[in-house]
Amino acid sequence: MKRRNFIKKASATSLGIVAVSSTLMSFDEKSEDKKAVILSTLKPIRPLVIATWNTPLAVETAAKILQNGGSALDAVEQGCIIEEANEKNQTVGKGGLPDRDGDVTLDACIMDNKGDYGSVLGVKNITHVISLARKVMEDTPHVMLVGEGAEKFAYEKGFKKENLLTESSKKAWENWKIKSEYKPIINIENHDTIGMLAIDKKGSISGACTTSGLAFKMAGRIGDSPIIGGGLFVDNEIGGASATGLGEEVLKTVGSFLIVELMRQGKSPQEACEEAIGRIVNKPGKDFKNFQVGYIAVNKQGETGAYSIHEWFSYNLFKDGENKNIKSDYFNKA
Ligand code: ASP
Repeated sequence: MKRRNFIKKASATSLGIVAVSSTLMSFDEKSEDKKAVILSTLKPIRPLVIATWNTPLAVETAAKILQNGGSALDAVEQGCIIEEANEKNQTVGKGGLPDRDGDVTLDACIMDNKGDYGSVLGVKNITHVISLARKVMEDTPHVMLVGEGAEKFAYEKGFKKENLLTESSKKAWENWKIKSEYKPIINIENHDTIGMLAIDKKGSISGACTTSGLAFKMAGRIGDSPIIGGGLFVDNEIGGASATGLGEEVLKTVGSFLIVELMRQGKSPQEACEEAIGRIVNKPGKDFKNFQVGYIAVNKQGETGAYSIHEWFSYNLFKDGENKNIKSDYFNKA
């Protein structure tokens, strides 16, 4: 691509007219009038919420906040809180499956429209780690707090100590221990790590991601979810992306950051998600049969995309007043 065209395409994207960026590419310098017409007819879709997996209540909670004029940041935090409190969801918050030593450790991060970010990693005894991540972002000069330091900070901020290991997660761990061979479990069809992106009525974008990580992981293992650019990235000028699935593979390709950068260069959210999955599955010799990665993305215009390696990744999308669970397209159709 010639440099002039690239710049034209990139600046079109940052104006929030990604849908027509390829059309703009073919315009010559005299077609400014046509450009203006297209710009004025494209109305950004807002408010909007998109979240990984089948998370209708979380998305509805976020959507209500946006419809009442609340911020995208409040929406993603409150949406994630729903799944963290849901004990039946064994990959987020209370009731999450423990590590191989039987400890439930949680990871979360949040990123706002100003490009600020906060995260907590490997936190025990605190259910609402998404709110703790927000406190790190807003009330400390840091961006990440880990383990005991994060837990200490939580108590200072008034979070209550809770036992996160429910009876059913304990049973699952005890069953796993019978064989006890080290193989973190990745259920291709049903991860419930929640990554959420929202655009509020003012057009500001924020995102959040919260998880208990891989079931029966090694103690101390951290995945993509709390890592900026891995499990989540937001650039308010361009859009946002979030990931679920085998965090190691997401991290090795800096997946969410990659998707936002691809959108900056003019790709649609769908094209960007597909390319990010391509970066994983097209590595020479990569055996992707036994792991899943799924991405969601949204651009400034409110166009969305989703793509996964295997079938059965789904996402909830709230737009135009409707909240739907949608099955994602996927790579491995063999
Ligand atoms: N991405 C998460 C992790 O690797 C797991 C998941 O999405 O289920 O920690």
